[in-house]
Amino acid sequence: MKYFDEYRDAAIAQQLIERIRQLSAKRSSADRSNDNRLRDNKSSDNKLSENRKVRFMEVCGSHTVAIYKAGIKGLFPDIDLISGPGCPVCVTSTRDVDRTILLTKMPGTIVTTFGDMIRVPGSSSSLQKEISEGADVRIVYSPPDALRIARENPTKKVVFLAVGFETTAPTIAATILQAEKEGFGNFFIISYHKVIPPAMRILLAGEEVRIDGFICPGHVSIIIGAKPYEFIPQEYHLPAVITGFEPLDILQALYMLLVQIKENRPCVENQYSRVVKPEGNPLAVQKLYDVFQQADAEWRGLGVIPDSGLALRKQFEKYDAMRQFDLSVEEKPEPPGCQCGLILKGLKKPTECPLFGRSCNPQHPVGPCMVSAEGSCAAAYKYGRK
Ligand code: SF4
Repeated sequence: MKYFDEYRDAAIAQQLIERIRQLSAKRSSADRSNDNRLRDNKSSDNKLSENRKVRFMEVCGSHTVAIYKAGIKGLFPDIDLISGPGCPVCVTSTRDVDRTILLTKMPGTIVTTFGDMIRVPGSSSSLQKEISEGADVRIVYSPPDALRIARENPTKKVVFLAVGFETTAPTIAATILQAEKEGFGNFFIISYHKVIPPAMRILLAGEEVRIDGFICPGHVSIIIGAKPYEFIPQEYHLPAVITGFEPLDILQALYMLLVQIKENRPCVENQYSRVVKPEGNPLAVQKLYDVFQQADAEWRGLGVIPDSGLALRKQFEKYDAMRQFDLSVEEKPEPPGCQCGLILKGLKKPTECPLFGRSCNPQHPVGPCMVSAEGSCAAAYKYGRK
């Protein structure tokens, strides 16, 4: 099948694996001193040493799954692949889950959501638990489905739980515009939408986790293009490669990252050029920002990041559940023992959580990273166990 088979070719994969192994293993003292020049604006703790692995982070849940599924994680002894805050369900904070649960308790309200959010635990309940106690929570497959439910239930207030990154936001913006056109008075969204580049910047600026390059998200980049990542080479002197999701896409991206390091020319490259255009999708971006504006947002593990969320513009405030309902809830701690926050920052791996595969598994998830199909813990459980 075109665009699939050629990106799963075993012979080409083998060649790429060899080249990546050579490039990562043969990182000479000269290469490593290039690394140090690349990072010379960072603290000494962050500089590459002669003995350590090069570490690349992906910030897309689909990449996390693809890397585990293809067995790429353990292929390279000198490369450490770590996952960042790339799963939209996982980065939704406990407080935001609690807000949604509060909504379900309001009389005459129907909460609509994509399926993954149902099982995410809040501080004392989950949507699934609320359903079992009689709450009207409905799984939808698209935002227009939620609008249809509002149309069919004019006496109810229908709230759509908008979780996602730049990829899904334009469709939700189009749904709001449709609601406006039809004059809906009973349709709302609660926007937990987030934008990825500010989170990447916070990770780099915080210096808590050492990152030597980014595998940039494919789907998000279809919308935003390459420009929003330029701060990575320009301000942090690090390589970044927009990457597809087939095994050869990911291998080629690793190769491209290593070549950038070797040649001391950090930049944003587009490995996924068969899908991602350098300028992204300006029409989708226009629609998105016609309806939303960037606003501060709370991320699980990362806290509040300035301008990293998407809030409805004032002219659409009648659709904004945050403004139309009293959703104040207190901040509560993560589930006891859960390491999701550290995992989303790249500071821990799923298997380093003491609950992984024991009290926390896909049937009985303790944290969101085990709930979502795109969560690091779920991917590690499904594909990463020996
Ligand atoms: Fe949280 Fe479970 Fe992952 Fe541990 S294994 S970090 S408890 S989701």
